[in-house]
Amino acid sequence: MENGPIKKIDIQQGDIIRLKVDAIVNAANTSLLGGGGVDGAIHRAAGPQLLAECKTIGGCPTGEARITKGYNLYARYIIHTVGPVYSGEQKDSQLLTRCYRNSLKLAGDHDVTSLAFPAISCGVYGYPITKACKIAVDTTISFLKDNPSMEKVIFVLFSSDDDGVYKDYISEISAR
Ligand code: ADP
Repeated sequence: MENGPIKKIDIQQGDIIRLKVDAIVNAANTSLLGGGGVDGAIHRAAGPQLLAECKTIGGCPTGEARITKGYNLYARYIIHTVGPVYSGEQKDSQLLTRCYRNSLKLAGDHDVTSLAFPAISCGVYGYPITKACKIAVDTTISFLKDNPSMEKVIFVLFSSDDDGVYKDYISEISAR
């Protein structure tokens, strides 16, 4: 495969709130009023002004994305997207693809040139990491091909197992 877009992708194990990027993506729920997992961590780190701004948005349907300021985070923006609860049906992959595409598009619209994603839907929402990883990486590569102003997309994985899944997939597609 042509290597340019892949070179703009980084895989890192760690906590997404520490990332020094223009924007981080939050795996939110449809209320946008906070929750557990990565959502809770982002709200705690960004501070109470984030919840105040989220309350003015009025929620977000599954597969769509909304943007707020980053407040106490290093990141200038937080892009909140709502992944599907895994059901095993075909609509799961369509909705998860839309999460990545809409998040990337919103980032580009706000002149974000570096963006970090958690593994959307892969916690409480139960999406299998191997399937979700392919959707995340393939959707990002196709966006990067069409949007050269995006310089860096980082996938931040909380567990070393998930980090391994992403690194293996990047190796696999790099060898194609
Ligand atoms: P969802 O409801 O979309 O499944 P979760 O927050 O439950 O969202 O989990 C999404 C992924 O984010 C999981 O793989 C989880 O391990 C991971 N995660 C949780 N906290 C953090 C964090 N601080 N930084 C990066 N990833 C995180």
